Amino acid sequence: MDYQAVLEEVAAHARPYVRQGRVADYIPALERVSADRFGIAVADINGDVYGVGDWETPFSVQSISKTFSLALVMAQSHGGHDSIWQRVGREPSGTPFNSLVQLEAENGIPRNPFINAGALVVTDRLQTLTGDASTSMLHFLREESGNEDLAFDQAVADSEAEHGDRNAALAHFMASFGNLENPVPSVIEHYFWQCSIEMSCRDLAVAGGFLARHGLRADGSRLLEAREAKRINAVMLTCGTYDAAGEFAYRVGLPAKSGVGGGIIAVIPGRCTLCVWSPALDARGNSVAGAAALDHFTTLTGWSVF
Ligand code: GLU
Repeated sequence: MDYQAVLEEVAAHARPYVRQGRVADYIPALERVSADRFGIAVADINGDVYGVGDWETPFSVQSISKTFSLALVMAQSHGGHDSIWQRVGREPSGTPFNSLVQLEAENGIPRNPFINAGALVVTDRLQTLTGDASTSMLHFLREESGNEDLAFDQAVADSEAEHGDRNAALAHFMASFGNLENPVPSVIEHYFWQCSIEMSCRDLAVAGGFLARHGLRADGSRLLEAREAKRINAVMLTCGTYDAAGEFAYRVGLPAKSGVGGGIIAVIPGRCTLCVWSPALDARGNSVAGAAALDHFTTLTGWSVF
């Protein structure tokens, strides 16, 4: 496979879509990014990396961090990994990522780990396991991507905290059902820090390599059992792209996780991990050009999971 040639063709196809959506503005600090950006990278399972466009420009990972917090909780639960599934489900929600509506009827148990409520529970667990959820994630991402310069974006974390009433409400509501182990302010603070990490398409494609390598880290050591990596990929496919996961599976056919910073990571198990970035989002919160690019990638290569 000539990855570079495929990526050039994918980028040419997707670029016209960059202005078809809107850059997220509900976290004001995210709005400063120009909609014109587009980058895509592929890291294959041997560690070779290819990229096109703005593939080395850092952006705010936002909800893509939810993939890594889930992986770290599963990895650090020392065989007791099923316990997280008593506190969070694994069904698509069909409601927006920051919705409260299902929580009351379902006793404070969020539908899945990739909506905000579920990610707050996972961050809470990671906080208990590590004592510092956001720093442990940053260290992991630095090691896995090989980029020691990865950092939190304080302006984004502060901006989100200033406008964080909805996430605080979700956390307090779950705490009222006894579904948080740590104080609400510390859980939401670590969640905001995790979301604020800045990474490029290159960094994310490389750091997400363990999902394509059935749980093996970049250095060959095991982060997750193969069946755990399979489970994360499965939840990405069914729940990773907001309430458009069905449409995304239909178009792209890959496990994927998107974020409101405009990034999407996607996994082709046994082959490679991709990351695409373009900040303008559709109404559900997925990058318009990013989804078009992944759609075209699987069309050109025939490499969906189906
Ligand atoms: N930090 C964002 C929030 O909680 C993440 C949203 C997203 O990327 O889906 O609202």
